[in-house]
Amino acid sequence: MHMAEMLDQQRNLVAQGCRVAAARGLVDGILGHLSLRVDDDHLLVRCRSDTDTGVAFTRPSDIRLITFDGTAGADGELDGYRVPNELPVHLETMRADAGHRAVAHLHPPSVVAADLAGITMRPIYGAYDIPGTRLARDGVPVYERAVLIRNSALGREMVAAMGGAPVVICRGHGITSAAATVQQAVLQGISLDKLAQMSLRVCAARGALREIDDSSWDDLPDLGSGFNIDAAWRHEVARLSDHPS
Ligand SMILES: [Zn+2]
Repeated sequence: MHMAEMLDQQRNLVAQGCRVAAARGLVDGILGHLSLRVDDDHLLVRCRSDTDTGVAFTRPSDIRLITFDGTAGADGELDGYRVPNELPVHLETMRADAGHRAVAHLHPPSVVAADLAGITMRPIYGAYDIPGTRLARDGVPVYERAVLIRNSALGREMVAAMGGAPVVICRGHGITSAAATVQQAVLQGISLDKLAQMSLRVCAARGALREIDDSSWDDLPDLGSGFNIDAAWRHEVARLSDHPS
């Protein structure tokens, strides 16, 4: 495939990821962004412009090619576009691990609320959402500073708190989710949000948050990426009202 054609496909995917995250309520308004590493020196990132109408309405043209210095990755890429203030979230998360090709930085209210309520993400359910409960079993770390992560020192601090986990909760702020693909990075965010919502519901019903029985884990298999990612992503795209290709 021609290089430009591949880039266009990747722009489409990152834009779609932004719209899916917004449709799931993981971002509101104009805050939050996704990125995708394309090679050692370049990444695509959701940028801002004077015609930007918010994350839910992200267009493929909002996804720009930049370098790891935050400069235009090719002629004209940043003409009329600005990188997000929190670009270091993406750069430092990618620098920390070559497996972090896609990064989603989102502001999901339920996750923020659950953390502020003192709730730790734990595997409180099983087959309800196996990828989500596995995420919780391995622990979801928290970056305790509620700052805007606008420089590399803060980005590195967040990554240190992440400690090799795929998702970190940024207290009073949002989450950063990293994965090999855009789909997985966003789906991890959706799973974490579901878990936070359920935790809040259990607490609201005055229930206690209890981890599932140890014996359940043997029968909570990894159903594979064809189901957990491909099928799940088809659904996310289908439920978008604009149903983009
Ligand atoms: Zn943020």
